[in-house]
Amino acid sequence: ATRAMIIDGKAFAASLVDRITTATAALIADHGITPGLAVVIVGEDPASQIYVRNKGETTARAGMRSETHRLTDTTSQDELLALVQTLNDDPGIHGILVQLPLPSQIDSSAVLGAIDPDKDVDGFHVVNAGRLAVGLPGLVPCTPLGSTLLLKDRLGDLSGLHAVIVGRSNIVGKPMAQLLLAENCTVTVAHSRSRDLPALCRTADILVAAVGRPETIRGDWIKPGATVIDVGINRVPALDPARAAEGKTRVVGDVAFAEALDVAGAITPVPGGVGPMTIASLLANTYVAACRAHGIVRSA
Ligand code: NDP
Repeated sequence: ATRAMIIDGKAFAASLVDRITTATAALIADHGITPGLAVVIVGEDPASQIYVRNKGETTARAGMRSETHRLTDTTSQDELLALVQTLNDDPGIHGILVQLPLPSQIDSSAVLGAIDPDKDVDGFHVVNAGRLAVGLPGLVPCTPLGSTLLLKDRLGDLSGLHAVIVGRSNIVGKPMAQLLLAENCTVTVAHSRSRDLPALCRTADILVAAVGRPETIRGDWIKPGATVIDVGINRVPALDPARAAEGKTRVVGDVAFAEALDVAGAITPVPGGVGPMTIASLLANTYVAACRAHGIVRSA
């Protein structure tokens, strides 16, 4: 059997960031508009701290204005809502991202719902979910957007392909289904209540794993030659038992990668697949939001 092609999300994301950087320089030179992204983090969650730092650094490197608002984990919902309002009203800020999860005293949906939908670069506002569902221009969640860009780069026209998405969350599974439907795929969305998941997966030309459980999708669940997008980020004990005993960890996806390599046509690795595309898509959304705010028709 031939081995699957490994989709280099890191390289593709770097080229996308390069294109956005060039487009941003042009936006500044031609229109005097610097796209601005505000990232808000509440509390000390270590994974969130890393994500937020990466987002801030990548934004600044692309030539955009980047600001990070760090609030303590005792911040009240009203305080957070007041900050969101200030950012909504700031004409120099085109994108607002509130890093999840939020502490338990804060209702996440109230906060996400308070963000101006045209600045909602995470695409989580119900207005943007609705726009995506009915095919209006809006802002699309970054992880599904990045995953779709990888698929189109690899496969070209996706029309008529059967896509099976495992996972139905509002931030990954559902918007991924909408995007692939818009690309004229036949879409199946599977979840924890689906019957005979392995057989369902074996019908997929495109298999998207957004399960949040390590190595759930096995090699024999994959149709030979299928394109596999592994969205999962799961921290598990290191392979070496001595290192595992010291508490060392490694990151694996939702797909059993080594098994999948012998069956799939192409597959995204974890790390280095979908993850870097998520942050590149955030920059793309911020650039698009800045253009739209000023009525400029361009695309990165
Ligand atoms: P959620 O936990 O919100 O959703 C998981 C989905 O998987 C649910 O719909 C659930 O079904 C389904 N599921 C869980 N167990 C099974 C099972 N055994 N069989 C079939 N379906 C199952 O996760 P997210 O969508 O937020 O994230 C998914 C993964 O992607 C996580 O690993 C997360 O870390 C990663 N992620 C990666 C990002 C990136 O930048 N690369 C960004 C965002 C997430 P049900 O609805 O029935 O409960």
